[in-house]
Amino acid sequence: MFAVVRSFIFVTIIGLLCVARVASAALPPAPVLDISHLGDELLRSPAEFLVTPQATTLDQLPLDRFRPLTDRDVNQGISNQAFWVRLKLRNEADRPRRWVLSHETAYLDLMTVYWADNGGPPHTLSLTDRAPYHSRPLNYRTLAFHHVTPPGGSTTLYLRLAYEKPDSVSLNIKLDDADRFAAQSRQSYAIYGMYYGAMLVLVFISLIGAWLLRQWLFFQYAVFLVASTLMWALLNGFAFQFLWPQSVFWHNEGFHILYLLMAASAFQFSRTFLRTRQRFPGIDRTIRGIQAVMVLGILMRFAGLYEPVLVLSFISLISLILLAPLGFWAYRQGQHYARWYAIAWVIYGIGLALSVISAGTPWLHWGMESLGFAQAAGVLEALLLLVALGERLMGWDRDRRLALRMAHQDPLTGLNNRRGLSIAYETFRERFERTHLPVFLILIDLDHFKVINDTHGHEAGDHVLVDLANMLTRTCRPADVCIRYGGEEFVLLLQVPSEDVALSIADRIRLDFAEHPTEYERKTITHTLTAGIAPIFAADVQLSPQQMIRDADRALYEAKREGRNRCRLYRGKYR
Ligand code: GH3
Ligand code: MG
Ligand code: MG
Repeated sequence: MFAVVRSFIFVTIIGLLCVARVASAALPPAPVLDISHLGDELLRSPAEFLVTPQATTLDQLPLDRFRPLTDRDVNQGISNQAFWVRLKLRNEADRPRRWVLSHETAYLDLMTVYWADNGGPPHTLSLTDRAPYHSRPLNYRTLAFHHVTPPGGSTTLYLRLAYEKPDSVSLNIKLDDADRFAAQSRQSYAIYGMYYGAMLVLVFISLIGAWLLRQWLFFQYAVFLVASTLMWALLNGFAFQFLWPQSVFWHNEGFHILYLLMAASAFQFSRTFLRTRQRFPGIDRTIRGIQAVMVLGILMRFAGLYEPVLVLSFISLISLILLAPLGFWAYRQGQHYARWYAIAWVIYGIGLALSVISAGTPWLHWGMESLGFAQAAGVLEALLLLVALGERLMGWDRDRRLALRMAHQDPLTGLNNRRGLSIAYETFRERFERTHLPVFLILIDLDHFKVINDTHGHEAGDHVLVDLANMLTRTCRPADVCIRYGGEEFVLLLQVPSEDVALSIADRIRLDFAEHPTEYERKTITHTLTAGIAPIFAADVQLSPQQMIRDADRALYEAKREGRNRCRLYRGKYR
């Protein structure tokens, strides 16, 4: 409450100080606009405008040099001249006409209004964003002036717009009926509110993603979003209105700092996202160089340099368009997830282009501020980058699963390797507890494999191993598990009703292998195998993984000793 009273007193004092009678007798004449049926409109011809040096005062204006203000004149490029607009508003209606004059951009430094009612004495009001936000007569995000033209009367207006330092000048000034202005600003604040809400949600999601997944990339995306959202908040005037109403410095000097920060963070995110350091070291070095220049620009701004930083910050914003071809290139180089990233930056580029076209030409004034195109594209871009991040995440998951599979797979035969044994052990234990059907382990070892290697070569040996693996896979039922346990040793886990069945399966494998020699380079390699079988889960048996291999190995050793090419059941303490 106190703050409201304080700002009210402050505004009143500032208002009283600002409103002063102009020394000269009366305002010069101006072209007439009928405002008896005023809706909302951009000030154009019959309004007239004139460009003068900053020092020119109202009574020094060359009045015959004013020209009609048309769409073409709205964008005046980067300049620090003074821009004058004049117009006489006539109210033919029989009731007072309340109206509001507002400038399009939040970064306009100075707007001085000279006005006189019914040809009476002139007044002056200086509006500026070089004072705390609350010093404004109208609580609105851009500089705005409010007045009432009496019934049957007129108000002559001379406006002077100027920047303290060169900046991009727009002569888009809106003249609204006051009630309509209030309704429209409520509506536009609501739309902007949705924009900022959406951006906050995205920041929140990415921060949670960064924290849960421990992914630096998500954090970098969040930094980029924060920088670009702050940049827009500054451009829209909301940062000054709601975030730092006292900080004239940040409202005026923050622009280039945030442009550069936004661009630098976009490049940083891109470097991590596209893994440029590993994949494209040359490009990565270039980007690092660009980033260094941007950081230098920010420091230069803090050091008080202006124009070089202004140019640099505009170049930075435009340079972001390069991220689109970079993304497509990365996509072509096999980075599948880069496609949404590339499309996101294409959309950014389109938004920027539309804004430039809209600001610099009479086209594309669809009731939007010219920056609206870039801002709307910014939301789409942020969403698409999130999709790209999602796809990247899915890629990580795919890679992880692939790595896991590879870690459990033997590259030569494609069978599970030893690592798969403990998983299989647990699976079979559960099955046994559920079904009480016995589980057996068959340990297979090739006979005199060393001789095969020595006689036919190591490659031929490999073929024999692959043949055996294929045969085992063919023989196994889906529920059985085949594992290449070591060099020429294989393990088969299976659940069958009795040891006789397990033994007969092992014997079938043995016979099959002996009857089908390996054909390799027109040579026929005959071979045999020996197997040891051990029950691992049965009514009176429950072995640990170590015990099951030990028992099967003992049976295998026995069979080898008995002459090889045979299968033996373990007959230990359980028999
Ligand atoms: P035994 O009948 O007693 O089992 O005799 P063996 O020669 O089969 O047994 P030994 O353990 O002496 O030799 C196993 C050989 O298997 C030695 C090794 O070079 C070979 N070996 C192991 N892994 C591979 C492989 O991946 N490819 C090939 N070609 N040979 C392998
Ligand atoms: Mg061996
Ligand atoms: Mg062997």
